[in-house]
Formats: sequence, structure tokens, C-alpha cells
Amino acid sequence: MTQFRPAEIVHDVVAEISPLVRRITASNSGVMTGPGTNTYIVGREQLAVIDPGPADAAHIAAILQTCGERLRWILTTHTHPDHSPAAVQLAEKTGAIVLGNKIADDGRQDVSFNPQRGFAHDELFTTDEFRIRAIATPGHVGNHLCFLLEDEQLLFTGDHIMQGSTVVIVPPNGDMQDYLNSLALLLQYPIAALAPAHGQIILQPQAEINMLIKHRMLREARAVSALQRLQHGSLDDITPLAYSDVNPELHRIARYSLWAHLLKLQKEGKVSEGNGDWRWIG
Ligand SMILES: [Zn+2]
Repeated sequence: MTQFRPAEIVHDVVAEISPLVRRITASNSGVMTGPGTNTYIVGREQLAVIDPGPADAAHIAAILQTCGERLRWILTTHTHPDHSPAAVQLAEKTGAIVLGNKIADDGRQDVSFNPQRGFAHDELFTTDEFRIRAIATPGHVGNHLCFLLEDEQLLFTGDHIMQGSTVVIVPPNGDMQDYLNSLALLLQYPIAALAPAHGQIILQPQAEINMLIKHRMLREARAVSALQRLQHGSLDDITPLAYSDVNPELHRIARYSLWAHLLKLQKEGKVSEGNGDWRWIG
């Protein structure tokens, strides 16, 4: 059994996570990014970086100092601006190959991202030192991948699962039904721990995944009862009712996930929408 170390998060300082994995957290902490974006370094001789992070000079310097010439591959879980932009400079400085999937820009993607190639679902990426399986996990965003380091059964979750905060689903690139399916999909893989792009390592992955699915279904039930009470209303009308247990300062963000829940309910024929007015028809 691999020993995982939930090391303290200190910006742009290398932390040992497991025999094969180190973590460098960027200093971009915030409401959406928690303590900052985690960049993971896999391997000891020929290295892969997972989620290079924002194009921040101190962060890129810390990665280069740790990896030097040994950096060979840059893998990206998705192309939000806190995850992939450092790929350009890291590739320029080291000649590392950039790998990941692109998606049409919705105003929220890193348009500088230009991978040499992408990943098919369940594709195995093998080096002399380790094996990484790419798992397509759309939901947070359509091009999202999780990476399973099979040698340690450690899953790099990107923004599919975060520690300490709830993942925001922003339509149309984000999709709640896809998100729930992608959570359930992970239960089929042998996973010993989760390494999220935001927050600490999570040591009870199956319990965490089941809790997340339950949490989303509970939120959906709250959205349904809010809309049943109102009969119809805008996102601004429904959000305070559906998220009455959440700090009002976060409602601006929660509104996106509510929208994603309502679109899911619309596909299920329980809700209709016209001119931003949502109506319960279940
Ligand atoms: Zn993201």
C-alpha cells in the first residue's frame, strides 16, 4: 500500500505527497480556487506535470527549479485559466510535450492552450517509470479529464473533485447530469486516494464520491421544492430559497450550479423555461 502524506499547503514550495508524486501550489488562492491551484509532479527521473497552473512567474520558477531538464510531459485536466496557461512557458523552456483536450471557448477557457495531442477516454499513458490512465469526466466542463496514476492508485481529480469547497458547474460547457455520471464512473476504478487541483489529498475516495453525489441530489431536491413553492421565477428568485443554508455572498456563484440543476430538470421534463423564467411542470 502506498503511503500518502497530506502535507501542509505552502505556496510555491515543493511538498512530497507519495513516493512518486510531489505538489507545488500556486499563490492564486480565492473563492473559486481555495488555497490555490495544485500542480503535481509525477516521477523521479523523467517527469510529468499535471495541471501546470496559472502563468505566474513565481509558480513557473518553482516548477522549473524542481523539474529542470527532466520535465518531459505536461498533462492538463482541463483548460480553465487557473489550470493550463503555464504550459506555454514550461514547454518553451524545457521542450516538454503538452497533452490535454481542447474545448470551444465559452469566454472561460485558456485560449493559449495548444496541445500536441489529446486523450481518449480510458487511454493509458505509459513511461519507463509510471502508468497514467486518462478518464474522461465531463461535468465541471466538457473537456475535463481525471488522471489515475495506476502505480499508486492515486487519482488526480482536477476540478472534478475539490477538497474543502464545492465544484461550480457553469453551463453550457458545464453539465450537471454529466457531472453526476462522471462521479459514479469513478466508483468503477481502483482508487486509493484523490489528489485534487484545489485543497488537500483525500484519503477515503469512495466515501467522498458517494457523499458528493448525495450532496448534489440534496441540492436538486432543494431547487425543486423552491420552484414548487414559487411555481415560477428567475434564477435570482430561486437561488436564495434553494441555497438558504449557504452564505449569501456565495449566491452569485451558486446561481450557476442552480442553473445547471434546472437544465438537468428541464431535460427530464420537470421544468420549463422561457425568457429566463423557470416554471415547475413536474
Ligand atoms: Zn475549472
